[in-house]
Amino acid sequence: MEIVTPFPKLGLIQLDLTLQWPYLMSRLHSASVRITSDTIVEAIEVGTVKVTHVYSRESRTIAVDHVVIISARIPNDELYQALAAHSLDLHRIGDCLSPLDIGNAIREGYEVGLAL
Ligand SMILES: Cc1cc2nc3c(=O)[nH]c(=O)nc-3n(C[C@H](O)[C@H](O)[C@H](O)COP(=O)(O)OP(=O)(O)OC[C@H]3O[C@@H](n4cnc5c(N)ncnc54)[C@H](O)[C@@H]3O)c2cc1C
Repeated sequence: MEIVTPFPKLGLIQLDLTLQWPYLMSRLHSASVRITSDTIVEAIEVGTVKVTHVYSRESRTIAVDHVVIISARIPNDELYQALAAHSLDLHRIGDCLSPLDIGNAIREGYEVGLAL
């Protein structure tokens, strides 16, 4: 597996500040996941992905079986809606309310906790 990101590293936005970071990276390395930074996806064809380094502009083609694209995110509050039918005191925080970043999810959870 190879993760390709246009950013200089994975988890650029706050993720490396969380206590999860060393465990996440250990698991990725144990699973032999290749991490390719500073690289954009130029084209996805059947069986191949063409990627280009952001700064050197050098391109290469990766042979692939599957491609998982991370793009815009939409909230999923199915669990909240299902439980709302049972008259529980429920609060939505994080991505189920509005997909942002991990810092926002933690802050929203903290604020709900303080208000209880
Ligand atoms: C590819 C990608 C990269 C990202 N990179 C960064 C980054 O670098 N820095 C950063 O700060 N943020 C990043 N984010 C955003 C960050 O991951 C989220 O904002 C954060 O995880 C939101 O936390 P959460 O607890 O709201 O939701 P989640 O972390 O998604 O947790 C929700 C949990 O609820 C579970 N769940 C959902 N529905 C049900 C159900 N019906 N029943 C039981 N369980 C259910 C899910 O399985 C999941 O475990 C990234 C997101 C993506 C997708």
